[in-house]
Order: sequence, then C-alpha cells, then structure tokens
Amino acid sequence: MAKILLSKENLFHNLEIIKNHAGNKDKVAVVLKDNAYGHGLLEIATMAKEFGIKKAVVRTYEEASKIEKLFDYILILAETNFPTYSHSFHIALNSLENISNLPKDANVHIKVDTGMHRNGISKDELEECIHGLCKNNVNITGVFTHHRSADELSTEFYWQNENFKDVKRIVVNLCEKLSLALPKFHSCNSSALFRHNHFDEDFARVGIATYGYIENKKPLRVPDLKPVLSLWASKISTRKITKGQAIGYGGTYIAKEDMIASTYDLGYGDGFLRINEKNKYFTPKGYKILGRVSMDNLSLNSDDKEVCIFDDANDLAKIHDTISYEIITTLSTQIPRQIV
Ligand SMILES: *Cc1c(COP(=O)(O)O)cnc(C)c1O
Repeated sequence: MAKILLSKENLFHNLEIIKNHAGNKDKVAVVLKDNAYGHGLLEIATMAKEFGIKKAVVRTYEEASKIEKLFDYILILAETNFPTYSHSFHIALNSLENISNLPKDANVHIKVDTGMHRNGISKDELEECIHGLCKNNVNITGVFTHHRSADELSTEFYWQNENFKDVKRIVVNLCEKLSLALPKFHSCNSSALFRHNHFDEDFARVGIATYGYIENKKPLRVPDLKPVLSLWASKISTRKITKGQAIGYGGTYIAKEDMIASTYDLGYGDGFLRINEKNKYFTPKGYKILGRVSMDNLSLNSDDKEVCIFDDANDLAKIHDTISYEIITTLSTQIPRQIV
C-alpha cells in the first residue's frame, strides 16, 4: 500500500529553528489548514503539541474541533458557521458583513487588508468594525494581516509593514478610547518571519516552514529546514519488457533495450500530480517514471518492493511549474500516514 512517512526528527528540527527565530514557543502558531498541508492534521498536531507549541491556525470549524484538545489557542481563518463554540477558538473576521454571524461572546481576530486585496477589511473600515463588534458583544482578541510578496525579492514587504503599523496605531487609539484590552497583532507567515531580523510581533503563523520548505528567493534568508514528508509506493507487479515495447497510456515510453519494469500503487488519483512524456522524473534512488502516470498506477525501472517516490517536493514543483505548497497539499487524505 502507498504510504506517507512523517519524520518527527525533521519536524522538531524545523520547529526548533522557527522557535529560535520567533523568540520562543509561545510566539509560534503552527498552521495546520488543509490537512496540515497534506501531512495529516492529527499526526502533525500531536507532534507539534509534544514539541510544546500551544497555538494553531486552521481554516474551518471542523478542523478546529478535531484538534481542540491539543492546543490552548486556535485561530480559524475562514468559517462563518459555528454549531458550537469553544473558548480556545479565535475567529478571523474577513468582512464587515460577517459581524452579525459571530457566536455570542466569541473571540475575534480582525483581518485587515494591507495590500493583498484578497480578504479583510480596509483601514477606513476599522472604526466601524470595532464599534460593530462591541455592539455584538464579542471579544476583539487579535488584529492581523497577510503579506502578498514576503518571499519575493522586493520592497513590498516593507511597504505592507508600514501599512500594518498604521493599522496598529488606529486600533490602539480606538481601544484606549473604548477601554478595550489590546488585541494581539500578527502579520507574518513563514517567509515574512524569516525576513525579520528581530521579530517583535505577538506571534507568527508558520505553515510551510514547519513542513521543511520556504519559497524565499535568494539572497533573502533561507533557513536550513528539512522536509518532513516522504511518499512511498508498493509494487503491484513486475514484467520483462523487450526492446521496442511501450509502457502505459499512449505508449509514450518505448524501451531502448530489454529491461525490467514494475507497476506501483500510486497515481494522480492519490494526489501525485500526473507526469507525462513532456518531463522526466527520477525517484531519490534514481529510478525513472516510465511513461505517463495513471490514476492509480505508475511504472518504474525497479523491482524493489517499496520505493520512495519523493522526499523533497521542490523537485516535483519544478517539473510541474508550481510551488512546494501545491505538491504536498494535493496528497490524498486516504493515503495512510505513519510517524517515524
Ligand atoms: C496559509 C496561511 C499562513 C501560512 O503561510 P505559510 O507561507 O505556509 O507560512 C499564514 N497566514 C494565513 C492567513 C494563511 O492563510
């Protein structure tokens, strides 16, 4: 059976680097949305807790309820429907319209748009927003934003930081006027955290770096992270292929000599994006994917019982003209995860 192995040693190595850069464990909120970037929500949540992380970030209410017992503080990025509500939950407010949907007495983090123009309210709406939240009897526990270009070699990172500083000034003034407790301020994802030399926000929301990747372009700081996940496939059958015979859909791979080829139980149906005749892919041991990847199968010039298909998503990201994030998050939830 295909499987995903999760290296606890590598996860702890990454969390140690992140913790040191952020200052301490309380300044790290581990981002576990989308099945912990394809790694397995409960597996990563359990290990992060064991490391001593107390804050998590997820996308939905459902994800938050699954890890409720493991963290003191859970930020939910994109949910408007709450069947029940727990006091460890903090709900991101992405627009003024959603104020009236918030559960009574909820903790709310106001998302502010400082230049990405994706989610969040604008600076000009802050006053209306804070008054609206007070009227609805919810607790404003955070104010945050998201960078659009922290991993790019540009000054936009600094421009957005300046915008967020304005936001902080406005919020602090309003809180003083209304005698409200000051909320937590946070703006950093993985790339933004590592662009700071002296990180001084309340916490950072760290996703991709936890899993061992970062897209920061050199000469930006690229920490020495290690991929946590490796994907393995098991052999279904082996056959002798004679020179001139073709393998797989379209017969695009033609054997140049007599060879052994085996089929393995992994395909694009498992979220391993399809490789075809336009690109070459070699596994970490140097086996080649022969012809097109099928829905549930792929062929290799190997007869090993089990083969590691990848242990570094960057190689595949290059082939598919995408980013490490997409390679790992597409992996099917049905593949068994094993911690090693
Ligand atoms: C996904 C996400 C993050 C994590 O980003 P990484 O680049 O993976 O560290 C942080 N904040 C928000 C709002 C997100 O949606």
